[in-house]
Order: sequence, then structure tokens, then C-alpha cells
Amino acid sequence: ALPASASPSRTLPASAGPVLLNFNECPYGPSPAAQAAARDIVAGSGRYLFALAGELRDLFAQQEGIGKDHVRLYPGSSEPLNRAAVLWTSPGAGLVVADPTFEALGDLAAARGATVAKVPLRADGAHDVRAMAAAAATVNAGLLYLCNPNNPTGSITPAADIAWLLANTPAQTRVLVDEAYLQYSEQRSVIAQVMQRDDVIVLRTFSKLYGMAGLRLGVAAAHPDRLKELASLGDNPLPVTAVAAGLASLRDPGLIAQRNAENAVVRQETIGWLGKRGFTCVPSEANCFVVDVQRDGAAFSAAMAERGVVIGRSWPIWPRRVRVTVGTAAEMARFREAFEAVVSRNG
Ligand code: PLP
Repeated sequence: ALPASASPSRTLPASAGPVLLNFNECPYGPSPAAQAAARDIVAGSGRYLFALAGELRDLFAQQEGIGKDHVRLYPGSSEPLNRAAVLWTSPGAGLVVADPTFEALGDLAAARGATVAKVPLRADGAHDVRAMAAAAATVNAGLLYLCNPNNPTGSITPAADIAWLLANTPAQTRVLVDEAYLQYSEQRSVIAQVMQRDDVIVLRTFSKLYGMAGLRLGVAAAHPDRLKELASLGDNPLPVTAVAAGLASLRDPGLIAQRNAENAVVRQETIGWLGKRGFTCVPSEANCFVVDVQRDGAAFSAAMAERGVVIGRSWPIWPRRVRVTVGTAAEMARFREAFEAVVSRNG
């Protein structure tokens, strides 16, 4: 028999419970090695274990080919995202984001009085970088947010478009590239840019492909001056369980390819199934997609939840579309069953 730590089912909810396809979490949880590492470190967690966090930072920097002094770890990528809004947006310095996109940054910037320019995605799901650069000038943007692959669509902004954007943003505008879902895609990271310029900040998280959403670990990569500004809002040591699990994840050579492939198969199966029934999705390279349900998205999500399948929500710009997280093959079978039932009931 496999040791308990090697069994993915150990982390999965009983099939009788609701299927949770709403927060873009990884249904497999931390890898078996990451789980074991987190458990093993608990006895030592009376200490801050700063040296272990240093090891993780150094390994991340080495794997990405960037300097150690260009990497800072946080308990999740939400923290540097929030700090960026606080530091670089204000009533006088706007924010440019795509629409739809991950809203945390825009909501915080708006609450602090910044003008938020929302630029609709192109029809292919890419960020409209030319319109975003123009908007950056209009709102005197201190910050421009580009999520690649994008949440909620999972859609890609091609490297050439990002290169154009970096060459054409106004001088006062920093560019924050959120690569939370990058490992699910076939795209190259822009992280090397942080060695070339001081106005690009790249975020990564262990919450998605590495399955550590509840453990809390994220990375900000940028020029040391930008990292210093982010750090100026206060220190917050990392949970050592997350550091240990993060190290084990980075040291697991096959993990990204395996989970990337697993996710892509289940995602494309589901999108294909929907397409055959006339429900289209924006092309996705992540563990989520947006489907046009051709009726009120909020009501549709509620009807799905009644059938035990909790999917994501709609964005105001697309009220008849909903976001769905890619779960396991078994979970997506339950998704299809519920979807079929809901659309046949509503006609
Ligand atoms: N960025 C994007 C695009 C996300 O979708 C999320 C979470 O859903 C986050 C950042 C924040 O994740 P975390 O704080 O868990 O790293």
C-alpha cells in the first residue's frame, strides 16, 4: 500500500459534499512531498526559521535565473498585490486594469480614491495593451496590472504584446504582471525583465498549481528598490509550514508538468463538451475558464449550487457568463451532470 502521504485522496473531500469549482483552487492540494514536509516541520515551528525562508528565496531565484536580491517572499501573493495598490495608486495616481480581471487590486485602489481605468479584453481574451497604454496616460497611472493568464478567463496575452506594453507605458507607470496561473500555461514568464528594469513587478503564488492556497506563500520579484518599497509597509514572517511545503514543491522536478497536463486534459474535455452543446468559452490556458451560459450568470450559478456544484461568479461586464474552476475529472463529470440539468430545466 502507498504511504498515507502519497495518496491524493487523503486531501479530497468526500464525494457526497458539494463540488467546489469557485475559487480557482487546485483540487489535488499540496503535493505528497509538500504535505510531508509541512507535517515534519510543525515540531520546529516554535522558531521563525528565517534561514529556511532564505533557502526558499535563493532556490526560487536560481530556478528563475534572477538575483536573490530581486525576490521577496510573502504569505500569499495577495499581500504584495495589496501593498502595490497602497504604494503606487492614490487620488492623483490611477490604476489601469483589464475588464474582466482579478479585482482585488482595483477594488483596493478605488477604495483609496484612485481612478481605475478598466479596459475590456480583446475578443481573443488578450489584454488590449494599446488601449491600456493610452488609458495609463489618461489617468496618470502609477500602476498598470496585467494578469497572464488572466483570471477569470484563463486567457493569454502574447509575449509580443507584453513587450510592446513595456516599451510604451508612460514613464510614471509601474507594470505589475500577475503570473498566478502561469504554470498552467505554455507561456514564458516575463520575470527576467526585473533584471533589466526597475518598473516591472512580477507576482507568483503557491496557491494555484502547487495547491497551497490555505498554507499561504507568494513571491514578489522586482528591482531591489521596488522590493524595498513593498517591504516598507511592514514585516510579516512566513508560516514555516508553507516554507517547508514550498521548498518541497520547487524540488519536485515533475510536479509542474504533471499537474499542467492533468489540468489541460480535463479543461479541454469540459470546454469541448460545452462547445458541442453550443456554449462557448474564451480560450483558456489556466485552471479556470469563462463560459457563456446565455442567461443570467448569477441565477445560473445559484441553480448549479442547488445541484451541489458551486461554480464561480459573473463579472459586471459579462452578466451572462460565469467562471468555472477546473476540478478533477470526477468533479467535472458532476459539473456536466448539473449543467445539463440546469440548462434543460431552463430551456
Ligand atoms: N492573483 C490572482 C490572479 C488570483 O487569482 C489570486 C487568487 O485567486 C491571487 C492573486 C491571490 O492569491 P494568493 O494570495 O492566494 O496568492
